[in-house]
Amino acid sequence: MSSPIHLETRADCSAWVAAYRQQQQKIALVPTMGNLHAGHISLVEEAHKHADRVIASIYVNPTQFGPKEDFATYPRTLNADSAKLTDAGCHAIFIPTQDQLYPLGTDDMRIIPTRLEHELCGGSRPGFFAGICTVVMKLFQAVQPDVAVFGEKDRQQLLIIQHMVQEFFLPIKIIGCPIVREDDGLAMSSRNGYLSVEERAKAPLLFQQLNALVNACSSGETNYRKLETKVAETLASEGFVPDYISLRDKHTLQVIEDGAALPATATAVFGAAALGKARLIDNIAFGDTS
Ligand code: AMP
Repeated sequence: MSSPIHLETRADCSAWVAAYRQQQQKIALVPTMGNLHAGHISLVEEAHKHADRVIASIYVNPTQFGPKEDFATYPRTLNADSAKLTDAGCHAIFIPTQDQLYPLGTDDMRIIPTRLEHELCGGSRPGFFAGICTVVMKLFQAVQPDVAVFGEKDRQQLLIIQHMVQEFFLPIKIIGCPIVREDDGLAMSSRNGYLSVEERAKAPLLFQQLNALVNACSSGETNYRKLETKVAETLASEGFVPDYISLRDKHTLQVIEDGAALPATATAVFGAAALGKARLIDNIAFGDTS
């Protein structure tokens, strides 16, 4: 298979896209921060189903990292990523420099998803979703794709991007892809590499505990706060530092109140916890998953 072309400037990116668009070809974008794993590759595979040309972006976006977070140490593995994207038949990789994406600097402008920015991950990561919306809007403007593909692992992000596309009338179809997991259930993540051997052995407990909560709800338990607390306590007793465990309407992110019947079509349990240096997040949608 031929290697994807590496595009480093907005101008190169626009020229590449324009050449295929002239031939009536559809373009799909898969935004990533690199250090690719099978979860990312599943997005590229999905992208092929919706477009003639697939472009992945690799950019570690400074504006979504808090001052104490891992921007400086986030794994940057371009050669390995490029090889994986070659195997996946990806046609181009957009690898912009900071100047290309933030011409006036990283403090000049933000897009803020006001209603959902403080929910779930936003509660402990101020500015995180504004950073994501801002960089994704920039990638959308630079590439002008017909389709963009995101993972359900970051379900809140997927939802916020869907809202952004609606609110700003962007002619881009957003596709969500299921979470790809390791054999023991741990959701694949670029940050799993931060786990020690002992931590890696414990890490699937997050998914197991979210599953236990889903099973309890499915068998009629409606004391949701108690179930969430129990999961958080179990994780804490095994050395995790839980951030949130939360049962929500998966489309609106509204908390499901204690005693309420589950919305038949749209429930998800969301969880985030630190384990050693890694922040793990996961979610399970259940009921009717449409
Ligand atoms: P990241 O490189 O972590 O910013 O992720 C880039 C894209 O890959 C996002 O749309 C993520 O939701 C998606 N992604 C990350 N991990 C997984 C996974 N385990 N399964 C499916 N999609 C994933």
